[in-house]
Amino acid sequence: SLQDKLDKALHNISGRGKITEINVAETVKEIRRALVDADVNYKVAKDLTKRVQDKALGQNVLTSLTPGQLMTKIVHDELVDLMGGSQEGINLSGKPTVILIAGLQGSGKTTFSGKLANYLQTKRNKKPLLVACDVYRPAAIDQLKVLGGQIKVPVYTEEGSTNPSTIAENAINFAKANNHDVVIVDTAGRLAIDEQMMNEIKSVHYFIKPQETLFVVDSMTGQDAVNTAKAFNDALNFDGVVLTKLDGDTRGGAALTIRSVVEKPIKFISTGEKMEALDLFYPERMADRILGMGDVVSLVERAQEQFDEEEAKKLHKKIAKNEFGFDDFLKQINQIKKMGNMKDLMGMIPGVGKAIKDVEISDDAFKHIEAIIYSMTPEERRKPSIINTQRKNRIAKGAGRKIEDVNQLMKQFDQMGKMMKMMQGPQGKQMMQMMSK
Ligand code: GDP
Repeated sequence: SLQDKLDKALHNISGRGKITEINVAETVKEIRRALVDADVNYKVAKDLTKRVQDKALGQNVLTSLTPGQLMTKIVHDELVDLMGGSQEGINLSGKPTVILIAGLQGSGKTTFSGKLANYLQTKRNKKPLLVACDVYRPAAIDQLKVLGGQIKVPVYTEEGSTNPSTIAENAINFAKANNHDVVIVDTAGRLAIDEQMMNEIKSVHYFIKPQETLFVVDSMTGQDAVNTAKAFNDALNFDGVVLTKLDGDTRGGAALTIRSVVEKPIKFISTGEKMEALDLFYPERMADRILGMGDVVSLVERAQEQFDEEEAKKLHKKIAKNEFGFDDFLKQINQIKKMGNMKDLMGMIPGVGKAIKDVEISDDAFKHIEAIIYSMTPEERRKPSIINTQRKNRIAKGAGRKIEDVNQLMKQFDQMGKMMKMMQGPQGKQMMQMMSK
């Protein structure tokens, strides 16, 4: 992966006591190779590494005591620049705001439309309307209806209609009449770029004059993603890019190149199939992630989103009174699950991303734990101290697990209790303060 290769290139230069102009040049060459291998456009990679080299020589990497760190910083800064520098939001000034979603079939358009509606409703206090404009695939309309149902956002459809522009126009009128302030129009896609699709979406774009046109692209399609972006940009002059499927083992190359090829910002990244798995795109964080520094800021943000102050207060009281039981434990597990895919979350921890890239971590990791807890009686859940060997045997049997598994869970539960007590003390406060800085 890009991260591994950059690591290696940077590792070569760090660790060396003295650095010469020659090994700066060597390292830069390796960085360039890593970028190209990760699907970064050759010219983009070449320009970037040229700037890195100039900066490295200009900033006295040669005499620096920590050349590796300095090089990492230079590469990091260049990556950030390449991805546009700062976060760019979406324009919500319309009345209603109309957002057109374009992209190839399978890129994740429909999923993203749902996520965007969910984001606008829960975080931006909007009242969105989803519009299904795929007149070719009834399944796509059903899919949007299902998503809309999940997040409780209405979906406008017109059965039997074959004209997407009319559907979209009617939907906007419906939105005006029903106080929807954002209209998200999900359009049809094809498996490859073709003229009919381009003409159709151009026509929809012309008729509804959206405030925002977002181009959705599957980050796993590598260099193809860049070509598709170019074609859609030529047709629509879109406002921003949405990169999907960044949860998989993707090569970050697309993110690096698209910006410089189409000169449009990446606005969102999609990192999973759950409706919550959507993040604003921050070039800084992406660069950190690529360089393996982890994405602590996003991790903390996700944790905070799930944080419920009332619940937390109740929990504090329970811990203080030694009343923390297995039902509370279950609640905690559910909160963690809501934060998203486990592997994703762990990948955001500095240094961990690389280590777990080949490890299978399933979201079912909690299933056994839950089965054991569900096999306990309510009294046992409230007062774990009454769980003796006999009870353990029964619980294990009920959950289809071994008694060792029950023992292990009891031990984890015990440790978690101790840790939470500690977090409430002065030490914990200090730690939380450090984390919030
Ligand atoms: P559309 O044809 O462009 O509307 O694409 P869909 O929204 O139907 O997505 C195609 C497939 O990709 C579906 O199976 C989605 O569940 C999946 N998908 C969409 N976004 C993501 C993502 O961010 N991560 C992962 N892992 N899968 C995604």
